[in-house]
Amino acid sequence: MTGTGITAQTSPPTERSEALFTRARTVTPGGVNSPVRAFKSVGGTPRFIREAHGAYLTDADGTRFIDYIGSWGPMILGHDHPAVREAISDALQYGTSFGAPGEREVELAELVTRLTHTDKVRFTSSGTEATMSALRLARGFTGRKLIVKFRGNYHGHADGLLVEAGSGLMTNLDGGLGAAAPSSAGVPEEYAALTLVSEYNDPQGLDTLMAERGAEVAAVIFEPVVGNAGVLIPTPEFLEALHRVQNAGALLIADEVMTGFRLSLNGATGRLGLRPDLICWGKIIGGGLPVGAYGGRAEVMDFVSPQGPVYQAGTLSGNPLAMAAGLATLRTLEADPDLYTRLETYTTRLSDGLKTLAAEAGVPVSVNQIGSMLTPFFQDAPHGSVRSYTDAARSDTRAFAAWFQGLLSRGIYWAPSQFESIFVSAAHTGVELDATLQAVRAALADLNGTDLSPKGVQP
Ligand SMILES: *Cc1c(COP(=O)(O)O)cnc(C)c1O
Repeated sequence: MTGTGITAQTSPPTERSEALFTRARTVTPGGVNSPVRAFKSVGGTPRFIREAHGAYLTDADGTRFIDYIGSWGPMILGHDHPAVREAISDALQYGTSFGAPGEREVELAELVTRLTHTDKVRFTSSGTEATMSALRLARGFTGRKLIVKFRGNYHGHADGLLVEAGSGLMTNLDGGLGAAAPSSAGVPEEYAALTLVSEYNDPQGLDTLMAERGAEVAAVIFEPVVGNAGVLIPTPEFLEALHRVQNAGALLIADEVMTGFRLSLNGATGRLGLRPDLICWGKIIGGGLPVGAYGGRAEVMDFVSPQGPVYQAGTLSGNPLAMAAGLATLRTLEADPDLYTRLETYTTRLSDGLKTLAAEAGVPVSVNQIGSMLTPFFQDAPHGSVRSYTDAARSDTRAFAAWFQGLLSRGIYWAPSQFESIFVSAAHTGVELDATLQAVRAALADLNGTDLSPKGVQP
């Protein structure tokens, strides 16, 4: 690790993670199976994780961390939750995959449609497949070709969605911030040309785009609360503009892969009072196993095969172990009406602590938080004022990287990128909160005395 200037204390050992990373890079591109795990934007050795229980991760060298990524969202109950583990091991006794329908798929579909006020749902194996399939459905239903997405929103890695995309793409591409469309090599310009991009939280921009091209637009897809550019919270005016696209005959698709069952039992859609035509899910809906889903009203969903003409399939879709984990997770969430309040209380205390400690340390930080999602943007702006990709991109990624390393060396596993949300789980308690704020204070203190200029340049 170079360039972050952390000198604070003796860091825990990383020999085994380093050895595994070396082996991994020989047999896997970049040594990881999903880019942001490589720590490229914060430097240093990615920790290879051996096990996870409750609010904690343990790495290959035996170091325990308080975990704030929760597998990037799914682990809302904490790792290795007894109800989820029991459900999986119970399902395991009956076989791991049938390639034929089973009762758990019906049960989970009934639960999801009830909680989300949708009529029908189709399960996939990942969030990427859910958004990709929802867009094909929107095109099949409307007979139109174009889709609209927002800068810095991430909807998985299907070709047409890798245009001005967020998440790992905000830091891992050569060229980094402001990467032009398409945001990945291998995406033909012809595909990218079918995706129009508008700025998040810019109602006028969206209205103008729809006035010009609305009759050709099959769907507008959006993160109802953005997690993949760091947390961005929508304004009421922007939400109104989103609903106006329905007047132009375009379907409104809420990508709730991150926010579904995270921001409330009814997702961001319930919390913010949205009326989308289709909703995509992933992450929590699988309770830590690979699941995605998309759903909506019957009139639209009945266009999906075998009922309708829009093809979509999956060898492992509706997998019995994944359905069992999802059912146990959603049932546990539903059985605990105070859970979302507890998550929010914890996260608000973390957020308030961060604001106070950053001010005391004289480090410019602008915090966005909603429910159990939070991002401290390292920039000099009022709290809550970062509202778009352009705003987020003003952050000092070197300061973030140094702060991240300061936390990691003190046993706090924060998201290894400025442009991600962290996630609090039901397993986080006051003990973890106090330990986290202590580490936050120390890591902020380290920043003073570190030469971080020039601003915004990555290590
Ligand atoms: C994670 C995520 C996806 C992609 O889901 P995968 O399961 O990683 O394919 C899509 N949309 C949003 C908003 C996400 O956060």
